[in-house]
Order: sequence, then structure tokens, then C-alpha cells
Amino acid sequence: MHTSSHGMTVNDFGLENADWRNWVGNQSCVRAASAAPQSEDELCSLIADATGKGLNVRVAGSGHSFTPVALTNGLHLTLANMKGVKHIDHDKRRITASAGTTINDLVKVLKAEGLSMINQGDIDSQALAGAFTTGTHGTGAKLPVLADAIVGMKLVQPDGSIITVDESTPDLLLAGRVSLGVLGAISEVTLQLQGSYRLREKIWREDFESAMEMHDELAEKHRHFSFFWCPYEESRHCYCLPDTAATSTTGRTTDVCEMKIMDITDEEPFDTPFEKVAYSADIYPIEYVANFHELEYAVPREHGKEAVRAVRKLMLEQFPEAIYPIEYRFTSGDEAWMSPFHRQDSVTVSVSGEPGKDYWDYLRAVDKILRGYGSRPHWGKMHFLTGADVTSIYPRANDFRELRRKLDPQGFYLNDHLAQLFR
Ligand SMILES: Cc1cc2nc3c(=O)[nH]c(=O)nc-3n(C[C@H](O)[C@H](O)[C@H](O)COP(=O)(O)OP(=O)(O)OC[C@H]3O[C@@H](n4cnc5c(N)ncnc54)[C@H](O)[C@@H]3O)c2cc1C
Repeated sequence: MHTSSHGMTVNDFGLENADWRNWVGNQSCVRAASAAPQSEDELCSLIADATGKGLNVRVAGSGHSFTPVALTNGLHLTLANMKGVKHIDHDKRRITASAGTTINDLVKVLKAEGLSMINQGDIDSQALAGAFTTGTHGTGAKLPVLADAIVGMKLVQPDGSIITVDESTPDLLLAGRVSLGVLGAISEVTLQLQGSYRLREKIWREDFESAMEMHDELAEKHRHFSFFWCPYEESRHCYCLPDTAATSTTGRTTDVCEMKIMDITDEEPFDTPFEKVAYSADIYPIEYVANFHELEYAVPREHGKEAVRAVRKLMLEQFPEAIYPIEYRFTSGDEAWMSPFHRQDSVTVSVSGEPGKDYWDYLRAVDKILRGYGSRPHWGKMHFLTGADVTSIYPRANDFRELRRKLDPQGFYLNDHLAQLFR
């Protein structure tokens, strides 16, 4: 039997704290065992011990996915004790960090070291492996998915051995960047960064039609452009959006877009209600107070405006109770095999259901519209994909499955949800 460096086996964790829930509380599992290893050695021996007993294994990040991606009835691991930066290469602007490090932990180090992440999403509480492996993105027509920055990683295999992935193993790198943990537990990642930069953020309000007219120009001219379309006045409270009526080009409070552009600047930091300049990572995150269950699809960019128009019409005409805003962002194509943006410049269109309400007809209607444009769902947000759908929309799906089967023929890193998609 394998024991960890702390002399622990999966039996030692018993059924204490057996239940696990994700952050929004819409996914849960009863676990045979759970553990928070302190080191890579301990991680490897816990995994080997669990698979030796026939248990499946999943690693959770910060639990911010809305889908059942992190669930297991076997050994459930958190890398909350495996955090921190291991190595910084200032010449190449690269950093190697333990996979449990949160984006927020990382950017504190980057700020002090004169570095920045190339892009970030709306929150920074995710673990690095958790965020990257579901294809988390920010906004920017010329900026790819965050996982595109991964230039190396370590994958712990079911027998506890480690595969080192880097640019000399291009298939593993392109498969591993967005792999939902099914190619192994990620113990560390090496990321390409850029020199520290400040962002100038500007937010304001436009009519929906005027946002559509400005769409191409704003996306082209600014490093980051995004908007929230808010059907009703209360919509912006759902995501704690600032009251941009003060900077409005229209006096209207409903059916408007809360617009945001961000660009790199040399200006000194300042902060006013609708414009500010600060270090990159101090600008990217927005504040979420409400709970919501989100669906988000990457729509081929040429269909973006048509797609958002169709979803808006659906909401106004058939689902007036759906008051959560549409979030609309841009992401450029990349090469990762299972990236929702694989070789496809995209906009992302997201909608949310209200927890406690029966929102399934609404989400299915949005799914039908967006899939009609050849869109690909965010792996961490609500979707309705089957294995056959994955095969038809991801040209490298079968290569990915073949690699997964080679590394983990018994499917220890799968759960029911992932087996349906990737077995
Ligand atoms: C409020 C909120 C805001 C969000 N904003 C954005 C946004 O702006 N852009 C965007 O694209 N997404 C966004 N998301 C989605 C979120 O970024 C993803 O769901 C992300 O995967 C969550 O990261 P996590 O650390 O919580 O991972 P988890 O949800 O815990 O896990 C995600 C996946 O990663 C796997 N995993 C985690 N750690 C490891 C590891 N060490 N080894 C192997 N596999 C591992 C898990 O098993 C699971 O399959 C948001 C979600 C919320 C709740």
C-alpha cells in the first residue's frame, strides 16, 4: 500500500466531511475520501493509493465551476496546501507555480516582480489549474483563452508517476492546456507572462442599437471591450454593476448596455466612479454579490451580433422573468485541442438562471439559438453537450480521447459527466 509523505493513506480520511458542494451550490457529491496534500510527493502517493483501491480521483480548484466537472464519489483532492511560486524566469517572463495557487495569490507576486498576466477574467479567486483547465477567458478580440499562456505543466498519472509537459511535447501541451483534469492531476504550471502594465478602464451606458453600431470599432480599437446588456433596471443589481446612468448617452434605464473598454496606459493611477487607472490585476476583477447559474457559449465572431440579438429577443418576448444580464466578450482563437476557442475567433455570450427557479426551458432555448451558430460551451458553465456533440464541434476530440485512454485506460480521472464527454 502507498502511503503519503505524511504517512497517510486514503483510508485515514474516512467519511468525515463527506459532502462537497461547489461555490454556487448547484453541484454536490458524497466522497469516499478527501485530502489536502502538502506536497507533490504526497499528492502522488495519495493518488496511487486511491487508484490501487479502485477509487476514482478528482481534484477541485476553488469550486467555481457550475458544471459537475470537479465531482467524484472516490478520492476528492484540494491543492489548497500546494500554493506558491516556485521559479521566476525574468528573461523569458515566465513563472512556475504550484497548481493550487489562486490567480489572486499569483498576481500579488507578479505585481512585486514587475510582471502581469496577459489577460484575466471577471474574478481572480480560481486556482490556476482550475481556471485554465476549463478554458477560462477574459475579453479582448486579439487575446486568447488564459490557458494559451501555459508553456509547461506536470501531470500526475493514476499510478502516481509524473509526466512533465513542455514545448518539447507539443501534443501533450496542446491537449493538456484545456483538459478538465482528465489527463491527470496538475501539480504545477509554467506560464508565459508579460512585463507589468497598467490598464485604463472606462465604463458607460449605450442603447443596445448604438452598442451594435460601435461593436466592430470598439473591438478593433481597444485591447479589451465587453458589455452587459441589461433588460431591466434591476438587472444590473444582479451582478453589482455600477450605475452608469451618470455617464449615459441615453436617459433610459432599461434595455441598455453597460459598456467597458480597457487599454494599456502609462498614466499615473487614479480612481473615479467610471474611469480608473491601476496595475492590471487591480482592474480586471469585478465584484459579484448575487448567486447565479451561468451558461456561456463561444460564438464564432462573425455571428456575434446576430446571436446576441436573437438571445435578447428571446428574453424580452418569451422569458421576461429572465432578468440576469447578458455578458458579451471577445476571445481570439487558439490551438489547444479542447479550447472552446480552438481555431475560432469568438465572442462569448452568457446568460444566467436564478437559483431556486426552474430556468431549464430558458437555458435550453438559449442553447438552441447559440448552437445554431456553431458555438462551443464553456466547460465550467451550464451546457447540454453530449459526447456526440463534442465529436462534431471539436476537430481534435477523438485525438484527445485517444490520449486520455492511453494515459488512464481505466478512467480513474473520469466521473459520470466527464465519461459521457470524453470516454
Ligand atoms: C463568479 C464567477 C465568475 C466567473 N468569471 C469567469 C470569467 O470571467 N471567465 C471565464 O471564462 N470563466 C469565469 N468563471 C468560470 C470559472 O473561471 C471556471 O469555472 C473555473 O474552472 C473555476 O476555477 P476553479 O479553481 O474554481 O476550478 P473548479 O471549478 O474547482 O474545477 C474546474 C475543473 O478543474 C479541475 N481541476 C482543478 N484543479 C485541478 C488540478 N490541480 N489538476 C487537475 N484538474 C484540476 C477540476 O477537477 C474541474 O474539472 C466564473 C465563475 C464564477 C462562479
